[in-house]
Amino acid sequence: MLFSEVAESFAAIEATASRLEMSSQVAALLKKCKKDEIRPLIYIIEGNVAPSHEGLDIGIGEKFAIRAISQTSGHSEKAVLSEYKKSGDLGSAAENLLSKKSQMSLASSPNTLSRAYSSFVKIAQMSGTGSQESKISILSELLNGATPLEAKYLIRFCLGKLRLGVGDPSIIDALSMMKHEGKADSQIILRAFNLCSDLGEVAEHYIAGKDLSHFSTQPFKPIRPALAERLPNAEEITKKLGKCAVEAKYDGLRMQVHLSSGKVEIYSRKLEKMTHMFPEITSAASKLKAKSAIFEGEALAYNASEKKYYSFQQTIQRKRKYGIAGMARDFPLRLFVFDLMYLNGKDLTLSPYSSRRKTLEKVFANTEPLVPSELIYTDDPKKLDNYFTNLLGAGLEGIIAKDLSQPYVAGARKFAWIKLKKSYGALADTVDVVIIGYYLGKGQRQEFEFGGLLAAVLNEETGEFESIAKIGSGFSEDEMQSFEKMLDEIKVKEKPKGVNSKLTPDFWVKPAYVITVAADEITLSPMHTCGMVGDTGYALRFPRMMSLRDDKGSEEITTTKEIIEMFEMQKRRKE
Ligand code: ATP
Repeated sequence: MLFSEVAESFAAIEATASRLEMSSQVAALLKKCKKDEIRPLIYIIEGNVAPSHEGLDIGIGEKFAIRAISQTSGHSEKAVLSEYKKSGDLGSAAENLLSKKSQMSLASSPNTLSRAYSSFVKIAQMSGTGSQESKISILSELLNGATPLEAKYLIRFCLGKLRLGVGDPSIIDALSMMKHEGKADSQIILRAFNLCSDLGEVAEHYIAGKDLSHFSTQPFKPIRPALAERLPNAEEITKKLGKCAVEAKYDGLRMQVHLSSGKVEIYSRKLEKMTHMFPEITSAASKLKAKSAIFEGEALAYNASEKKYYSFQQTIQRKRKYGIAGMARDFPLRLFVFDLMYLNGKDLTLSPYSSRRKTLEKVFANTEPLVPSELIYTDDPKKLDNYFTNLLGAGLEGIIAKDLSQPYVAGARKFAWIKLKKSYGALADTVDVVIIGYYLGKGQRQEFEFGGLLAAVLNEETGEFESIAKIGSGFSEDEMQSFEKMLDEIKVKEKPKGVNSKLTPDFWVKPAYVITVAADEITLSPMHTCGMVGDTGYALRFPRMMSLRDDKGSEEITTTKEIIEMFEMQKRRKE
């Protein structure tokens, strides 16, 4: 397929606000793909060269893209820059400048999807001295064979700013639509995706007609993490689960560890590789008496002489201060293993919790610093409550109750796990929001030019970010300064597509940074669009920033549905 066909389809996708219509455009494009074009197309739509756990970033800086556009269009770099300033989008600048070019270069032939993709991969794999020049020349070659519209998307993709607004759920719907005029296979496709986090691979299998219902986990294909639901108190938990496992909830860093034939990789909650940062965990995993395994746990720094754990925030701070080797020596980590999803070639995700846990305890007997999470089994709300209170006293965050009969529910928030955390005002939990804009400072804060944030949650049904709070407190002066810098880099001129807000901040930003916010309660408000019915939405009362969550992406934030549930729960929560 020609890349110009892809570009035309991208333009149509961009012009539609309907998610269904987007999916059907994607389905139509996938139908035109040859077998070996499916993966490249899926990754490109996702805005990547490969699934993010492979860590292959295209990484062309604006300066170099400007140079490539200048070389191809025959306009000076200054002219490219001034065209760029008009729209704030270098892709549109390339489109305009190339459309003024009288003739295509004689030597150039039109780009195919495969050629464009293999060029992207080459660019992403290059590093070291001189690599920027080679990247520019590969990009220039692509631009030489490109129509103006193609150039727009080539440039946006290479800058990591494709942003078609097509999320993974829409791609999954598109796949399902290809075979049925509905969403018949969505659940099966979603499960396969949850088990391998590679939509390109899943799409290729699905379109080739393979049976995805037998899809299983494989080492070095990270599993999308299981998530916990909330209930307001011990009574509701035991009523829902009956006898259950009540595990300590550690406030550390979630790790998914993969082991096969002595090789180890560690993935973050966002499923990015972070193996090199934790040599002590890697070395302990490689010594396990297992040929292959995939397990999950929460890591905390432990000070043996004081018998004291450090929280996630402290763990991260210490890493910055001491460096990786110093950190491993002075503040070794302990990984509290809470699930085992694969062992010696066997997928355990469909086994019930009780059986996975039994195996886990055998595998992790005497394997310090890998230790099973602490737990009790009970169906008695009083015992659960006592255990919860004791854990809070010991400085832990709460408990996670687990349904003994449930499989590992990859990538979903289900009642297989239920969390009960220490109180934040009347709220049962903190809320993870994405920053959609910011305000300039007034009065004392003026010198930092930063006056607060506009934040949103995700409405999973519409795919839109809905505003829920204006956050003006909880920041240290250092944080304000670094926010101003970080946000300035992702400023956009207009309200980004997919953002739903009645309020207009001083600056809109690309919804990228996730922060954890505590609040006194959830209230109804005419100002915010979260879960809006008529004129009234949900809002956070007295919101304050707790921390930046760089282990979460914008699609993993608190959803509108969860906010509504938390609002209902607030009424039932025992003080
Ligand atoms: P979520 O991960 O549910 O989106 P979150 O990242 O804000 O939310 P919490 O709501 O605090 O985190 O709780 C869930 C997290 O608790 C898990 O993602 C995991 O990192 C951590 N955790 C700590 N101890 C355990 C445990 N014993 N079992 C499962 N998860 C645990």
